[in-house]
Amino acid sequence: MKFIKPETAVWRTKEWLGIIKNLLCARVSQGQAIDELQHYLAQAYPESSVMLLNSARAGLALALGVFQQKVPTKCEVIIPEYICDSVPKVILSCGLTPIFVSVKKDLNLDVSKLEENLNNNTLAVILPHMYAKAADIAQAEAMLMAKGVFLIDDAAQVAGVEINNKPLGSFGDVGVLSFAQAKTIVTGVRGSGGVLFINNKKLLPLFNLQTLPKNTGRAFQLLHFLFAYKWQGWAKKLDYYLQRLHAKLFKDKPNDYYSEIKQISNLEADIALAQFSSLSSRIQQSKEIIAQYSQALRSCEGVLLVQVDRDDLYLTRLIIQSQVTPPKQLAEQLIKQGIKTKFVYGTGSKVYDGSYCSGLLELPLQGLKLSQIEKVVQAVVTH
Ligand SMILES: *Cc1c(COP(=O)(O)O)cnc(C)c1O
Repeated sequence: MKFIKPETAVWRTKEWLGIIKNLLCARVSQGQAIDELQHYLAQAYPESSVMLLNSARAGLALALGVFQQKVPTKCEVIIPEYICDSVPKVILSCGLTPIFVSVKKDLNLDVSKLEENLNNNTLAVILPHMYAKAADIAQAEAMLMAKGVFLIDDAAQVAGVEINNKPLGSFGDVGVLSFAQAKTIVTGVRGSGGVLFINNKKLLPLFNLQTLPKNTGRAFQLLHFLFAYKWQGWAKKLDYYLQRLHAKLFKDKPNDYYSEIKQISNLEADIALAQFSSLSSRIQQSKEIIAQYSQALRSCEGVLLVQVDRDDLYLTRLIIQSQVTPPKQLAEQLIKQGIKTKFVYGTGSKVYDGSYCSGLLELPLQGLKLSQIEKVVQAVVTH
């Protein structure tokens, strides 16, 4: 059976041709795409200094390190309660303490709750835009600047969205962008690319902009991404068992693809350029699919499109809140009809208990045809 499933990457001819060209010409690690991407981003984010990296978490770690250097006495970093676990992990790895603040219905941090959570120990706030839905970043920026608390505009999941004519990622002291699976710009997994935007010019001298180590071995990681994520099937299961085997055999030496901060590879910079060139048309497509879903599910009782609060919204992933049927049960019923769903971060897919972070389930979104949307809607409505 061919499943309708959440896509990890929407790639067109340009991405594939770039991959073939760079592999054939042996330009996987180094090449001109790195400079081209640097140039492209410098123009798209004109008020920021652009640092190309192998992941967004590398950018978070560099920024937190600089903040610590500036203010060594403070050790708390505020993040939303609903977030990708890489973020609290980075905070802990820097020797800092994550402080969790509640989110709003749209799964973004409730900025009105920020002030009451600040204290003399608050070093920084990391403010992500979940699934590309913009958080109240301008309000947070104004308030935190006045209080002398650093702000990271975590645009890991989103490129191509602006607030007050400024791209997300360019607010606060620094911003980040990720090129990992299921973000706006996807070039692979396991350190396939990221960007640090240094927005506060006063901090610039503290960042070491000298050349980082070159990124190697990325052709193999691309194959891993294609088989285990993009095409899934048997390779995904095999990957899962290999990872478990590795964890058993090498308990003291877990796989770590992120700890070393490196350059982006040329191969992945080229895929990123192709993804940026198709960005506006992909955003348009997602908006149309969301509008279809929104209309069809508006009157469906017990199923809420939690982030969709207007017709013209761009999201990278579509999260529903299933208030009556437990998400696990709904997922099982949908899979019988050929529809794969995904559980969300943390405990968000637990049975609905009245809180915003419960009853959540991800439906397929990117790249869906009209007939496929209708099939998913039908299955959700009649489950
Ligand atoms: C994915 C993600 C990150 C980490 O990105 P990597 O490039 O995988 O390091 C950070 N913050 C948020 C909000 C994310 O979704």
